Amino acid sequence: MVPGLSVVLVGDDAASAVYVSNKEKASKACGMRGETIRLPASTSQAELLALVERLNADNAVHGILVQMPLPSGIDPDVVIRHIAPHKDVDGFHPVNVGKMLIGHTDGFMPCTPAGVIEMLLRSGVETRGAEAVIVGRSNIVGKPMAAMLVQARAGGDATVTVCHSRSRDLHAHTKRADILIVAAGRAEMIRGEHIKPGATVIDVGMNRVADASRASGSRLCGDVHFESAEAVAGKITPVPGGVGPMTIAMLLRNTVRAAERVADSRVGTA
Ligand code: NDP
Repeated sequence: MVPGLSVVLVGDDAASAVYVSNKEKASKACGMRGETIRLPASTSQAELLALVERLNADNAVHGILVQMPLPSGIDPDVVIRHIAPHKDVDGFHPVNVGKMLIGHTDGFMPCTPAGVIEMLLRSGVETRGAEAVIVGRSNIVGKPMAAMLVQARAGGDATVTVCHSRSRDLHAHTKRADILIVAAGRAEMIRGEHIKPGATVIDVGMNRVADASRASGSRLCGDVHFESAEAVAGKITPVPGGVGPMTIAMLLRNTVRAAERVADSRVGTA
Protein backbone atom coordinates (compact mmCIF):
# COMPACT_ATOMS: atom_id res chain seq x y z
CA MET A 1 0.00 0.00 0.00
CA VAL A 2 1.35 3.45 -0.93
CA PRO A 3 0.04 6.34 1.21
CA GLY A 4 -1.66 8.91 -1.01
CA LEU A 5 -1.90 12.64 -0.27
CA SER A 6 -4.06 14.94 -2.40
CA VAL A 7 -3.51 18.65 -1.96
CA VAL A 8 -6.07 21.02 -3.47
CA LEU A 9 -5.03 24.56 -4.38
CA VAL A 10 -7.71 27.00 -5.50
CA GLY A 11 -6.60 30.28 -7.07
CA ASP A 12 -3.16 31.77 -7.53
CA ASP A 13 -2.03 33.00 -4.11
CA ALA A 14 1.77 33.07 -4.42
CA ALA A 15 2.56 31.99 -0.84
CA SER A 16 0.03 29.13 -1.03
CA ALA A 17 1.61 27.93 -4.29
CA VAL A 18 4.99 27.65 -2.53
CA TYR A 19 3.51 25.81 0.49
CA VAL A 20 1.66 23.39 -1.78
CA SER A 21 4.65 22.59 -3.96
CA ASN A 22 6.77 21.99 -0.80
CA LYS A 23 4.14 19.55 0.45
CA GLU A 24 4.00 17.72 -2.88
CA LYS A 25 7.81 17.48 -3.08
CA ALA A 26 8.10 16.21 0.49
CA SER A 27 5.41 13.56 0.03
CA LYS A 28 7.05 12.28 -3.17
CA ALA A 29 10.54 12.36 -1.58
CA CYS A 30 9.42 9.89 1.06
CA GLY A 31 7.75 7.56 -1.41
CA MET A 32 4.14 8.59 -1.12
CA ARG A 33 1.74 9.20 -3.95
CA GLY A 34 1.51 12.97 -3.76
CA GLU A 35 -0.72 14.92 -6.12
CA THR A 36 -1.65 18.58 -6.32
CA ILE A 37 -4.97 19.49 -7.88
CA ARG A 38 -4.90 23.10 -9.06
CA LEU A 39 -8.22 24.86 -9.65
CA PRO A 40 -8.82 28.37 -10.98
CA ALA A 41 -9.85 31.20 -8.64
CA SER A 42 -13.22 31.20 -10.40
CA THR A 43 -14.04 27.73 -9.01
CA SER A 44 -17.42 27.67 -7.27
CA GLN A 45 -17.99 26.24 -3.82
CA ALA A 46 -20.21 23.53 -5.36
CA GLU A 47 -17.39 22.48 -7.72
CA LEU A 48 -14.89 22.33 -4.87
CA LEU A 49 -17.27 20.29 -2.71
CA ALA A 50 -17.82 17.88 -5.62
CA LEU A 51 -14.04 17.40 -5.89
CA VAL A 52 -13.76 16.78 -2.14
CA GLU A 53 -16.52 14.16 -2.42
CA ARG A 54 -14.63 12.45 -5.25
CA LEU A 55 -11.45 12.37 -3.14
CA ASN A 56 -13.40 11.14 -0.11
CA ALA A 57 -14.55 8.17 -2.20
CA ASP A 58 -11.17 7.42 -3.83
CA ASN A 59 -9.45 4.47 -2.10
CA ALA A 60 -6.03 5.56 -3.39
CA VAL A 61 -6.35 8.86 -1.49
CA HIS A 62 -5.64 8.56 2.24
CA GLY A 63 -5.15 12.23 3.05
CA ILE A 64 -6.89 15.35 1.70
CA LEU A 65 -5.66 18.88 2.29
CA VAL A 66 -7.42 21.93 0.92
CA GLN A 67 -4.92 24.81 1.07
CA MET A 68 -6.16 27.94 2.83
CA PRO A 69 -6.98 30.74 2.26
CA LEU A 70 -9.72 30.04 -0.27
CA PRO A 71 -11.01 32.70 -2.70
CA SER A 72 -13.85 34.85 -1.40
CA GLY A 73 -17.17 33.21 -2.16
CA ILE A 74 -16.05 29.84 -0.80
CA ASP A 75 -16.74 29.23 2.88
CA PRO A 76 -13.69 27.45 4.35
CA ASP A 77 -15.72 25.95 7.21
CA VAL A 78 -18.14 24.30 4.79
CA VAL A 79 -15.24 22.83 2.82
CA ILE A 80 -13.43 21.55 5.92
CA ARG A 81 -16.62 19.91 7.21
CA HIS A 82 -17.00 18.17 3.84
CA ILE A 83 -13.68 16.33 4.09
CA ALA A 84 -14.14 12.82 5.52
CA PRO A 85 -12.69 13.06 9.07
CA HIS A 86 -10.57 9.92 8.52
CA LYS A 87 -8.88 11.68 5.55
CA ASP A 88 -8.57 15.10 7.21
CA VAL A 89 -4.77 15.04 7.62
CA ASP A 90 -4.74 18.80 8.29
CA GLY A 91 -6.68 18.07 11.50
CA PHE A 92 -9.19 20.90 11.10
CA HIS A 93 -12.46 18.95 10.84
CA PRO A 94 -14.58 19.48 13.99
CA VAL A 95 -14.45 15.72 14.69
CA ASN A 96 -10.64 15.80 14.83
CA VAL A 97 -10.57 19.09 16.75
CA GLY A 98 -12.94 17.53 19.31
CA LYS A 99 -10.83 14.40 19.65
CA MET A 100 -7.70 16.50 20.14
CA LEU A 101 -9.37 18.55 22.87
CA ILE A 102 -10.61 15.47 24.70
CA GLY A 103 -7.14 13.95 24.45
CA HIS A 104 -8.06 11.05 22.16
CA THR A 105 -5.24 10.03 19.85
CA ASP A 106 -7.22 8.29 17.11
CA GLY A 107 -7.91 11.56 15.25
CA PHE A 108 -5.46 13.82 13.44
CA MET A 109 -3.63 16.64 15.22
CA PRO A 110 -3.24 19.95 13.33
CA CYS A 111 0.24 19.90 11.81
CA THR A 112 1.85 23.13 13.04
CA PRO A 113 1.16 22.70 16.77
CA ALA A 114 1.85 18.95 16.48
CA GLY A 115 5.25 19.82 15.01
CA VAL A 116 5.95 22.12 17.95
CA ILE A 117 5.15 19.33 20.43
CA GLU A 118 7.40 16.94 18.49
CA MET A 119 10.28 19.44 18.63
CA LEU A 120 9.82 19.93 22.38
CA LEU A 121 9.79 16.17 22.96
CA ARG A 122 12.82 15.46 20.77
CA SER A 123 14.79 18.38 22.23
CA GLY A 124 14.20 17.14 25.76
CA VAL A 125 12.29 20.24 26.84
CA GLU A 126 10.32 19.48 30.00
CA THR A 127 6.73 20.54 29.48
CA ARG A 128 5.42 18.98 32.71
CA GLY A 129 4.68 21.78 35.18
CA ALA A 130 6.22 24.37 32.84
CA GLU A 131 4.73 27.82 32.31
CA ALA A 132 3.84 27.75 28.61
CA VAL A 133 2.76 31.04 27.07
CA ILE A 134 1.26 31.16 23.57
CA VAL A 135 0.93 34.43 21.67
CA GLY A 136 -1.97 34.03 19.21
CA ARG A 137 -5.34 32.25 19.45
CA SER A 138 -6.05 31.19 15.87
CA ASN A 139 -7.83 27.93 15.15
CA ILE A 140 -4.82 26.62 13.23
CA VAL A 141 -2.05 27.42 15.72
CA GLY A 142 -2.81 29.12 19.05
CA LYS A 143 -5.93 27.29 20.21
CA PRO A 144 -4.83 23.74 19.26
CA MET A 145 -1.37 24.50 20.70
CA ALA A 146 -3.00 25.27 24.05
CA ALA A 147 -5.16 22.14 23.86
CA MET A 148 -2.12 19.93 23.22
CA LEU A 149 0.12 21.43 25.92
CA VAL A 150 -2.55 21.02 28.57
CA GLN A 151 -3.14 17.27 27.98
CA ALA A 152 -2.07 14.90 30.75
CA ARG A 153 0.70 13.10 28.87
CA ALA A 154 4.26 13.45 27.57
CA GLY A 155 4.60 16.75 25.74
CA GLY A 156 1.74 18.11 27.87
CA ASP A 157 1.08 18.76 31.57
CA ALA A 158 2.01 22.43 31.09
CA THR A 159 0.34 25.42 32.73
CA VAL A 160 -0.90 27.26 29.67
CA THR A 161 -1.58 30.95 29.06
CA VAL A 162 -2.98 32.11 25.72
CA CYS A 163 -2.37 35.76 24.77
CA HIS A 164 -3.99 37.72 21.92
CA SER A 165 -4.43 41.27 20.71
CA ARG A 166 -6.69 42.11 23.66
CA SER A 167 -4.30 40.82 26.32
CA ARG A 168 -3.67 43.66 28.75
CA ASP A 169 0.05 43.27 29.41
CA LEU A 170 1.52 40.92 26.84
CA HIS A 171 5.11 41.16 27.99
CA ALA A 172 4.25 40.47 31.62
CA HIS A 173 3.14 37.05 30.32
CA THR A 174 5.94 36.41 27.83
CA LYS A 175 8.60 37.29 30.43
CA ARG A 176 7.51 34.55 32.80
CA ALA A 177 7.26 31.80 30.16
CA ASP A 178 9.49 28.74 30.43
CA ILE A 179 8.19 27.85 26.97
CA LEU A 180 7.18 30.75 24.73
CA ILE A 181 5.36 29.99 21.49
CA VAL A 182 4.73 32.97 19.24
CA ALA A 183 2.16 32.76 16.43
CA ALA A 184 0.87 36.30 15.94
CA GLY A 185 1.93 37.09 12.37
CA ARG A 186 3.71 40.29 13.51
CA ALA A 187 7.31 40.52 12.28
CA GLU A 188 9.89 40.41 15.10
CA MET A 189 7.40 41.65 17.74
CA ILE A 190 9.06 39.64 20.54
CA ARG A 191 12.60 40.71 21.44
CA GLY A 192 15.19 39.50 23.91
CA GLU A 193 13.94 41.81 26.64
CA HIS A 194 10.51 40.14 26.50
CA ILE A 195 11.92 36.68 27.21
CA LYS A 196 12.83 34.92 30.46
CA PRO A 197 16.52 33.95 30.52
CA GLY A 198 16.91 30.30 29.55
CA ALA A 199 13.40 29.97 28.09
CA THR A 200 12.59 27.77 25.12
CA VAL A 201 11.31 30.01 22.32
CA ILE A 202 9.33 28.57 19.41
CA ASP A 203 8.77 31.02 16.58
CA VAL A 204 5.81 30.03 14.40
CA GLY A 205 5.62 33.35 12.57
CA MET A 206 6.39 33.60 8.89
CA ASN A 207 6.56 37.16 7.62
CA ARG A 208 8.06 38.71 4.50
CA VAL A 209 9.57 42.12 5.21
CA ALA A 210 11.35 44.65 3.01
CA ASP A 211 15.16 44.41 3.10
CA ALA A 212 17.13 46.63 0.74
CA SER A 213 20.33 44.66 1.44
CA ARG A 214 18.89 41.56 -0.30
CA ALA A 215 18.87 41.15 -4.06
CA SER A 216 15.19 40.17 -3.85
CA GLY A 217 14.44 43.34 -1.84
CA SER A 218 12.84 41.30 0.98
CA ARG A 219 13.54 38.57 3.52
CA LEU A 220 11.57 36.05 5.55
CA CYS A 221 11.45 36.52 9.30
CA GLY A 222 9.57 35.23 12.28
CA ASP A 223 7.52 36.89 15.01
CA VAL A 224 10.64 36.84 17.20
CA HIS A 225 13.65 39.11 16.72
CA PHE A 226 16.17 36.28 16.46
CA GLU A 227 19.44 38.04 17.32
CA SER A 228 18.24 39.67 20.54
CA ALA A 229 16.18 36.62 21.57
CA GLU A 230 18.98 34.13 20.91
CA ALA A 231 21.18 35.91 23.46
CA VAL A 232 18.60 35.33 26.21
CA ALA A 233 16.82 32.09 25.31
CA GLY A 234 18.03 28.63 26.26
CA LYS A 235 16.69 27.17 23.02
CA ILE A 236 15.18 28.93 20.01
CA THR A 237 13.85 27.93 16.59
CA PRO A 238 14.95 29.84 13.47
CA VAL A 239 12.77 31.21 10.66
CA PRO A 240 12.94 29.85 8.07
CA GLY A 241 13.91 26.31 9.00
CA GLY A 242 12.21 25.68 12.36
CA VAL A 243 8.47 25.18 12.62
CA GLY A 244 7.84 25.26 8.84
CA PRO A 245 9.61 21.97 7.97
CA MET A 246 8.11 20.34 11.08
CA THR A 247 4.63 21.27 9.84
CA ILE A 248 5.26 19.40 6.61
CA ALA A 249 6.74 16.44 8.47
CA MET A 250 3.59 16.18 10.61
CA LEU A 251 1.41 16.32 7.50
CA LEU A 252 3.31 13.32 6.13
CA ARG A 253 3.02 11.52 9.48
CA ASN A 254 -0.74 12.08 9.51
CA THR A 255 -0.99 10.75 5.94
CA VAL A 256 0.98 7.60 6.81
CA ARG A 257 -1.27 7.10 9.84
CA ALA A 258 -4.37 7.54 7.68
CA ALA A 259 -3.09 4.84 5.31
CA GLU A 260 -2.11 2.54 8.19
CA ARG A 261 -5.59 2.83 9.67
CA VAL A 262 -7.12 1.75 6.35
CA ALA A 263 -4.68 -1.19 6.21
CA ASP A 264 -5.49 -2.13 9.83
CA SER A 265 -9.23 -2.00 9.21
CA ARG A 266 -8.80 -4.30 6.20
CA VAL A 267 -6.87 -6.77 8.33
CA GLY A 268 -9.55 -6.44 11.00
CA THR A 269 -12.37 -7.27 8.61
CA ALA A 270 -10.54 -9.97 6.63
P1 NDP B 1 -3.83 34.67 12.62
O1 NDP B 1 -3.73 36.00 12.00
O2 NDP B 1 -5.00 33.80 12.32
O3 NDP B 1 -3.80 34.85 14.24
C1 NDP B 1 -2.88 35.71 14.82
C2 NDP B 1 -3.14 35.74 16.32
O4 NDP B 1 -2.18 36.60 16.93
C3 NDP B 1 -4.52 36.29 16.68
O5 NDP B 1 -5.07 35.51 17.71
C4 NDP B 1 -4.23 37.71 17.17
O6 NDP B 1 -5.09 38.14 18.18
C5 NDP B 1 -2.83 37.56 17.74
N1 NDP B 1 -2.10 38.81 17.68
C6 NDP B 1 -1.88 39.60 16.60
N2 NDP B 1 -1.18 40.69 16.94
C7 NDP B 1 -0.96 40.59 18.27
C8 NDP B 1 -0.30 41.41 19.21
N3 NDP B 1 0.28 42.58 18.85
N4 NDP B 1 -0.26 41.01 20.49
C9 NDP B 1 -0.84 39.86 20.89
N5 NDP B 1 -1.47 39.03 20.03
C10 NDP B 1 -1.54 39.40 18.74
O7 NDP B 1 -2.47 33.94 12.32
P2 NDP B 1 -2.08 32.37 12.27
O8 NDP B 1 -2.26 31.77 13.61
O9 NDP B 1 -2.69 31.75 11.10
O10 NDP B 1 -0.51 32.50 11.97
C11 NDP B 1 0.36 33.16 12.85
C12 NDP B 1 1.73 33.25 12.20
O11 NDP B 1 2.25 31.94 12.02
C13 NDP B 1 1.75 33.89 10.81
O12 NDP B 1 2.96 34.60 10.66
C14 NDP B 1 1.71 32.70 9.88
O13 NDP B 1 2.31 32.98 8.62
C15 NDP B 1 2.54 31.71 10.65
N6 NDP B 1 2.24 30.31 10.36
C16 NDP B 1 3.30 29.50 10.09
C17 NDP B 1 3.10 28.16 9.85
C18 NDP B 1 4.27 27.30 9.59
O14 NDP B 1 4.12 26.19 9.11
N7 NDP B 1 5.48 27.74 9.93
C19 NDP B 1 1.75 27.57 9.82
C20 NDP B 1 0.71 28.50 10.20
C21 NDP B 1 0.97 29.83 10.44
P3 NDP B 1 -6.69 38.35 17.93
O15 NDP B 1 -7.28 36.96 17.90
O16 NDP B 1 -7.12 39.14 19.11
O17 NDP B 1 -6.83 39.07 16.63
